[in-house]
Amino acid sequence: MADRTDRARGVVLKKTKLGESDLIVTLLAQDGSALKLVAKGARKPQSPFSSRLELCSVVDALVAKGRGSLGIAREVRLVSGNAGLRGDVDRIASASLAAELAERIAQEELAVPRLFDMTCAVFERMGAADADGARALAAAYLLKALSISGFAPSLRVCVGCGAALPETAGMVRFSHVDGGYVCGECGRAIESVRVAARTLALAEFLLFSTFEEVSSARPDAQEVAGVLQLCRRWIEVHIGANLRSFPFALGSTRPRP
Ligand SMILES: [Zn+2]
Repeated sequence: MADRTDRARGVVLKKTKLGESDLIVTLLAQDGSALKLVAKGARKPQSPFSSRLELCSVVDALVAKGRGSLGIAREVRLVSGNAGLRGDVDRIASASLAAELAERIAQEELAVPRLFDMTCAVFERMGAADADGARALAAAYLLKALSISGFAPSLRVCVGCGAALPETAGMVRFSHVDGGYVCGECGRAIESVRVAARTLALAEFLLFSTFEEVSSARPDAQEVAGVLQLCRRWIEVHIGANLRSFPFALGSTRPRP
């Protein structure tokens, strides 16, 4: 009996070793759901899969139905290799962070509109960015991906009473557990940490700007690092994930003289 096959486009988010020479590849499909495929023999150097299933590549796959939930990749065609990400440690660190969060958010057979287009767009733009630019794009991507998954922090108004974030250059309170900015009054009752008001203002800008606007704005590298730290804790609390790429992405932040 011939296999039933489907065609699927997706971006490679994760590769897991299977057996002697196979891979399980997690793709983010065009509808924003996760699609897991077995690529047989993909870890053999001569495999036609090996060069096409790089992290962050966009591929078209011909998928045969396996017995369980895993499909079997019959053919893989490269749509975009996002070559600009390869061989640059800063760009790949930032791209890995985005891929890792997408992999945690995407679920099999659950459509998340916009996630695929947004993920392809950020990888393409990161491929032409410098280290600081790639990190700003990663921070913007994390906030946007969290937002479309229903986990946007409140950055402008107090989660306790709705008071607006004051125009201040100073420190304010932020509650990861309760959902965002906390005013001084509510801070007495809500467990919160101190963050710079400008970190919340930058997070707000990154969340609501296009990737093009983020690239053009060239936000300060140390302030972007502050937003990434905020995202790191936020993702631990709300997604239940300690993303392994964070130390890698943050570690290469160089202090400004
Ligand atoms: Zn309040």
